[in-house]
Amino acid sequence: MTLPPGPEGHPAGAAAQVLRRVFGYESFRSGQQEIIEHVVDGGDALVLMPTGGGKSLCYQIPALVRPGTGVVVSPLIALMQDQVDALRALGVRAGFLNSSQDLEQRRTVEAAFLAGELDLLYLAPERLRVEATLRLLDRGTIALFAIDEAHCVAQWGHDFRPDYLMLSMLHERWPGVPRVALTATATPETHKEITSRLGLADAYHHVADFDRPNIQYRIAPKKEPKAQLLHLLRTEHPGDAGIVYCLSRASVEKIAEFLAGQGIAALPYHAGLDNRVRAENQARFLREDGIVMVATIAFGMGIDKPDVRFVAHLDLPKSVEGYYQETGRAGRDGLRSTAWLAYGLQDVVQQRRLIDASPGDAAHRRRLGTHLDAMLALCETVECRRVGLLAYFGQRGSAACGNCDTCLEPPQSWDGTVAAQKLLSTVLRLDRERHQRFGAGHVVDILLGRSTPKVAQHRHETLTVFGVGEDLRELEWRGVVRQLLAQGLLAVQGEHGTLALTEASADVLRGTRTVALRREPERVARSSARPGGGDASAGAGRARRATPVDLPAQAAPVFEKLRAWRGATAKEQGVPAYVIFHDATLREIATRMPTGLADLATISGVGENKLAKYGEQLLAVLTGSAEPVEPD
Ligand code: ADP
Ligand code: ZN
Repeated sequence: MTLPPGPEGHPAGAAAQVLRRVFGYESFRSGQQEIIEHVVDGGDALVLMPTGGGKSLCYQIPALVRPGTGVVVSPLIALMQDQVDALRALGVRAGFLNSSQDLEQRRTVEAAFLAGELDLLYLAPERLRVEATLRLLDRGTIALFAIDEAHCVAQWGHDFRPDYLMLSMLHERWPGVPRVALTATATPETHKEITSRLGLADAYHHVADFDRPNIQYRIAPKKEPKAQLLHLLRTEHPGDAGIVYCLSRASVEKIAEFLAGQGIAALPYHAGLDNRVRAENQARFLREDGIVMVATIAFGMGIDKPDVRFVAHLDLPKSVEGYYQETGRAGRDGLRSTAWLAYGLQDVVQQRRLIDASPGDAAHRRRLGTHLDAMLALCETVECRRVGLLAYFGQRGSAACGNCDTCLEPPQSWDGTVAAQKLLSTVLRLDRERHQRFGAGHVVDILLGRSTPKVAQHRHETLTVFGVGEDLRELEWRGVVRQLLAQGLLAVQGEHGTLALTEASADVLRGTRTVALRREPERVARSSARPGGGDASAGAGRARRATPVDLPAQAAPVFEKLRAWRGATAKEQGVPAYVIFHDATLREIATRMPTGLADLATISGVGENKLAKYGEQLLAVLTGSAEPVEPD
């Protein structure tokens, strides 16, 4: 892009001008200006910003201001086309090189790069292993290197990619080219590891506020997960786009089928699906409104669809980092969104078992255990979830948020010491029958004094603990087991999930340690929807659905008209709807009802290119002559 010299010659002026003219935004978001100026001046930067924080501009604007091409290293091959389309819609000259292209397509992009006709070039990290790529880069002018999803370089993190390790080479080979590394997920440990692996100790570090205030965090006891999920979708998110995460491919298939059977536009996504089907499902999720993607965690990184209204987890994530990144895909546009997780005893047992069975050395398993413990602590906390999440990312001392389940319905804690003693002594007695294996179900049966066939077979009705737990219901006992597991006062062993004592159990049995437990909020028991039938319980819950766009009444029909126009335009061009305009931009147009092009140009998200391309059409939609016959 050739920019006429700005009124001011200094970089900030040029950057601000690009922000306005190309992107159509009035002002920088917090942090952006400092980062951009630093990189424009040739300095390195490490940017830690939550999803939706505005990381892309931090390298796109410097790439446009500095001479040469900004080279963006990104692991997300499947999304490069969309990223490039979105930039081209803004009038930015962008291209990508990856394995999805044939030789001729690659040649065209390479030629454009060498001719200095590209502002941005996206590359998969594995391209940099190829000597020919390095030589190509040598022959062009590089404005900067952007290392997207920089947490992939960290082994401590949850998304390690070996190809990222060699990115330290960029600085050695091109010492004069500034680098900007960006990620939305980094604990202090990961931050440290990125810094050392990429040699960014002297870089400008920007650690943003990681809070996502528009996301409501909720963690519910898992009872009938399918019915609970359906209830959530029907009562709070009808017609909304969202992601449902499951641990296994089989459950992805099962849940997608179940939702589709309930009339919800749900699609499956997992690594076992045919490539073509997977790409098609992803494309539909991005392009169409209101698709629910049921997926394994293989789905979502780099998906910059701004209007994902909910992220639901039906299985426990392995780490808080993973959880925060996955839930962070909701509400990039800043509008109200839900992060909902259903979590139960079986999740703890299963995750512990997976860790025991995982390949790798003891240190690796210990690391996995630490990650899981942090996730469990978040699930079992009686404090504000957000405070816990932010503290995990090194942001301490924030106030209770008022927008998470524990803030909205504070759970009570109760003294579970006696209950824990009953349970632990049952486990202790069963443990004496060395060669036997008894899981949580059997232990609870004994506590409740149930004469099951298994109880009879092992003569467990003769144990002194038989029936001592009749003061609690089965569900409550399962909660006790789960929480003791989470607190490390109980362990599971072997593939049968046999319960076993830990070193810390002894203190509880001896009475030298008390146990505080979380009481499950009662009301969730009512949350099961009727599969198949109409949803009579809709609206019964306290959490009410936010108006989709929080618009004044008279603006709502205009917004819908604009959306329909956008849908048709996007389809015609084969790009996602948000590439044309974001919801937020359409919303502002519907509210302000601009009457002319100059007026329209002042709306956030309407840059020069889009104004020229769509301005007249938008005004036509507003005046009701949406399909003008031969305008002018
Ligand atoms: P991230 O990569 O950090 O998740 P993005 O770069 O995708 O975030 O930005 C999130 C959204 O915010 C995008 O729609 C982007 O266009 C918008 N945005 C970024 N910076 C600004 C700004 N200064 N003013 C208005 N909108 C912005
Ligand atoms: Zn809270």
